Amino acid sequence: MISDKDIQLFENIRTLINRNKTFLLIAHVDPDGDCVGSMLSFAALLEKMGKEVGCYIPGGVSEKYKKFSRLESILSEEDINRFKFEAVFVLDTPTLERAGGIITHEKDAVIVNIDHHPTNMRFGSINYIKDKTASTTILVYHFLSFAYSESITPEIADYLYLGIVTDTGCFRFQNTDAEALSVASELIGYGARASEITREFFYMKKFRSVKLLSCVLANLQLFEDGKVAVMELTNSMLDEFNAELEDTEGFIDYAGSIEGVELTAFLREINTKRVRASLRSLGDLDVSSLAERYGGGGHKNAAGLTFDHGLERSRELVIDGFRQILVKL
Ligand code: 5GP
Ligand code: MN
Repeated sequence: MISDKDIQLFENIRTLINRNKTFLLIAHVDPDGDCVGSMLSFAALLEKMGKEVGCYIPGGVSEKYKKFSRLESILSEEDINRFKFEAVFVLDTPTLERAGGIITHEKDAVIVNIDHHPTNMRFGSINYIKDKTASTTILVYHFLSFAYSESITPEIADYLYLGIVTDTGCFRFQNTDAEALSVASELIGYGARASEITREFFYMKKFRSVKLLSCVLANLQLFEDGKVAVMELTNSMLDEFNAELEDTEGFIDYAGSIEGVELTAFLREINTKRVRASLRSLGDLDVSSLAERYGGGGHKNAAGLTFDHGLERSRELVIDGFRQILVKL
């Protein structure tokens, strides 16, 4: 699981941390729990070591992560230009473009790139990339337990645990493997609040979110002999329930829970042209290449993209792409 090459990388990252004072931590746009958890765990560690830390999340972060402490150190778009740093950690983010374009090249700073996306462009000065690992926080854990095991506080364990539950869908997805379970178990040993985190991030919903879900489910459609499920969210639905896009997190899992469904899409109308799409698949069916075709990306079984074609056309393109995936297998 951890090779000699990884140990060498860990040594290099530790030396970098010990030698420098100011660090910028970057997450990807529209960050999920794995991304936020990776960032916060480094922020907590570095601050405890007396370092100066700035966190940057392009486009900001949703309310529920804001509540999850420490996000006060998040820099605004203006602050980021004034923040001087010696090294940058880019976490759970496959390209510098997804990192908000603040760092455009390796020469801008020493970049530590830690990620588990197969599409990672290895843009860092140090790249710790494992695309078979269930979450980026597992990689952060491996590094921390090698380099700073005595510094893994219950707070850091919480952040790392959050990334595992997010990216494994509470240990239900196919990436739930021995490594994910054993790291989760070790984190509980370090004080991670397993059940509170799962409840806070997965089962506790706002009333408006549950009402919105009922509306989205009422309009769910099946295609391709029931192998494809498509869910859609229109702006008028959001208005009706006075809801936000972040209230839709986890909705797509309902489509994937239908017996016989192998491919699912959740299309969210941003405006009359732009549509955010989340794609999910079972087993060997690969949705990442479909996402990449339209400028998005992700993993084999979970990917995302933005269409510029309006809802109707986006739906056609997704169903068409799904049909090709089904034929290929
Ligand atoms: P979600 O559907 O939950 O937004 O994203 C699923 C996975 O696809 C995540 O790993 C996420 O980082 C990735 N992803 C989502 N949207 C995009 C995108 O527009 N570009 C890239 N490169 N990856 C994306
Ligand atoms: Mn991740």
